[in-house]
Amino acid sequence: MICPECGAANVQRRNLGRKIGSGAGAVAGGVLAVEGATAGAIVGSTIPVIGTIAGGLIGFIIGAGSGAAVGALAGEPLDGTVFDEFCCQECSTTFNKP
Ligand SMILES: [Zn+2]
Repeated sequence: MICPECGAANVQRRNLGRKIGSGAGAVAGGVLAVEGATAGAIVGSTIPVIGTIAGGLIGFIIGAGSGAAVGALAGEPLDGTVFDEFCCQECSTTFNKP
């Protein structure tokens, strides 16, 4: 891939949609994570203290992790459509495949 502006070959993929998606997903996942933590804590509370903590932790991790993964998937189609897919490292021009 070569920059259409300055001809440099020093071009990188931006993955902006993926980054924004996974960020937004992580936030949304955080909400799920709190619910997951609550549900996990309730399930875990059959074993007092340790079960509550472990259950809450597992619920939180599953919620936050799946949110980020789903967000990244949702954001991926935006790359190359809504957002320019490539960025020139020499002149900072952003562009898509010709
Ligand atoms: Zn350039």
